[in-house]
Amino acid sequence: MKTIFPQVETYDTDGFVHRQNLLDFDRQAFEAYFATMGEPSFRATQVMKWIHQSAVTDFQQMNNLSKALRQRLADTAIINNLKIKKDVLSVDGTRKWLLQLTDGNLIETVFIPEDDRGTLCISSQVGCALDCSFCATGRQGFNRNLAVSEIISQLWLALQCLQEEKKPGRKITNVVMMGMGEPLLNFDNVVTAVRIMLDDFAYGLSKRRVTISTAGIIPAMDRLADILDVRLAVSLHAPNDNLRNKLVPVNQRYPLNELISACHRFVDKQQARYRITFEYVLLDGINDKPEHAREMIRLLRGLPALINLIPFNPFTGSGYKTSSAATLRYFSEQLSQAGFTTVIRKTRGKDIAAACGQLAGKIQDKSRRARRFAEPRYGMRQESVVNIKTI
Ligand code: SAH
Repeated sequence: MKTIFPQVETYDTDGFVHRQNLLDFDRQAFEAYFATMGEPSFRATQVMKWIHQSAVTDFQQMNNLSKALRQRLADTAIINNLKIKKDVLSVDGTRKWLLQLTDGNLIETVFIPEDDRGTLCISSQVGCALDCSFCATGRQGFNRNLAVSEIISQLWLALQCLQEEKKPGRKITNVVMMGMGEPLLNFDNVVTAVRIMLDDFAYGLSKRRVTISTAGIIPAMDRLADILDVRLAVSLHAPNDNLRNKLVPVNQRYPLNELISACHRFVDKQQARYRITFEYVLLDGINDKPEHAREMIRLLRGLPALINLIPFNPFTGSGYKTSSAATLRYFSEQLSQAGFTTVIRKTRGKDIAAACGQLAGKIQDKSRRARRFAEPRYGMRQESVVNIKTI
């Protein structure tokens, strides 16, 4: 067949035509893509609206594109590549999807409805290299970073599924990058995915309502503040280095005083000056004593902070216990009395193992892939991340 378009096909190593997944593209990438085809730049927003707002995956239905362009896209591009393996609904309305990637790996995504909003908790990596001692994801080890399309597909699929429910109160108003993985160790893909979330021609989410959560990858926090105005959550979990080195091993590389300085820089650099959310999982007898609250007050003094206290969600073999309700309340009161806005996070979706830190997914072929996808970044080579315990 004769084509009026320049030849832009690329081939995978197995010789098949590489189909471009259009969920990988933010607006800028779309414009560049259409430019290679000699198409005007407004094709970018037209196609983005079809894909993200109308959830159209059949190019023939994109009736404001020429027939020839529709065919061209049908021949060379795809939209979405995740399969829903499991889809479970909790008694409290929380819904969790187990999603299969094309390489067989499995990741999890969770929707949490609340009175005034609906939050989607999105994964950024297959597994996680940071090995925080209280987190189920860390137990699996790390496999690889998610592609932009694999991050954005989670939102795309969840929206379709929730729309099909045809029930009120099932809208996604907020996104938190608090699923599996460390978002700031998959920096470029996470940033591009967030740009798509914020784009008015895609999901148009408010930047106040998109949160990136990090265990404290300092160089990436600095870089993020320079390029993206979103909310940041920092997983604190301990108010001194001794304890944090054990609970959040990446602290050995990025210790608390440096982390707190980075938080100050982050707030100062950002136009919006949003408060930073500090997440703190309370572990019975470990980090929940009055002196820990006092240390935390000293540590966070002067920072626009919102403290999120999280009851530990147990999983098999964790070795930790949930702090009592009274301990949680006392800890929270100490922080409030010192002037910090403190929220105790409600545990949601426990019956379907969808609560914080319970996301497990499944990793395929870990060791080989871990090496193949190892990327030197932020002076932190992936191998050393994996072995962070030994640093
Ligand atoms: N790597 C990023 C994003 C993952 S979200 C980060 O560390 O921030 C991780 C959050 O899940 C943690 O801050 C913590 O709030 C929560 N979490 C992890 N394990 C948990 C558990 N067992 N119980 C309760 N919350 C947990």
